[in-house]
Amino acid sequence: MGDIIFMGPPGSGKGTQAQKLVRENGWVQLSTGDLFRSHIEAATELGKRVKPILDAGTYVPDDITVEMVRQRLRDIPKETRIVFDGFPRTIDQAKAIDRLLSEVGRGLDGVIYLDVPRNELIARVITRGKREGRSDDTARVIVKRLDVYEQNTRPLIDHYKQRGMLREVDGTGTVEEIATRLGKAAEATWSR
Ligand code: AMP
Repeated sequence: MGDIIFMGPPGSGKGTQAQKLVRENGWVQLSTGDLFRSHIEAATELGKRVKPILDAGTYVPDDITVEMVRQRLRDIPKETRIVFDGFPRTIDQAKAIDRLLSEVGRGLDGVIYLDVPRNELIARVITRGKREGRSDDTARVIVKRLDVYEQNTRPLIDHYKQRGMLREVDGTGTVEEIATRLGKAAEATWSR
């Protein structure tokens, strides 16, 4: 039983969907965005360091992100499946995840990519910002985050496609419709 990566642009709903999937199955979601936000809320050293980065919509340096994931992995029992949400986001992080997982005797089963058109992403993120008060969910920051995503994270799609690990899921429609498609993709990934 291996772990899985959820990929998708900001606002694609990958966080919501990952949360739903892990809740229904008793797995664990590992969201680097959530981990950074908890550090910011608790005003830890790491939190103080990354707050301006999150607010600007750019990426936290790979070494800091990878180290935080390494720490978090220590607490997750080997039998519990992990759904990675928002990590890896760069080619270097993709290389690091293989290393991190093998260090603790784990491995990847596959990658699910939630595909949503750009104009829909912007509208969704602005709605989420108003609802949750996320300081990086504003029109200005979302455009920056999408650019950063296109430049740094989109190349990962090919990286995993070439390895035959990627499953693409249509991320438009209602939360339930998307969840059904994702559930099927997840099952197919895990039964390989
Ligand atoms: P998210 O909640 O996944 O949208 O992440 C919110 C913000 O946290 C991003 O815009 C980045 O500033 C930071 N972040 C989250 N995950 C990563 C990562 N894997 N690498 C670098 N920065 C990240």
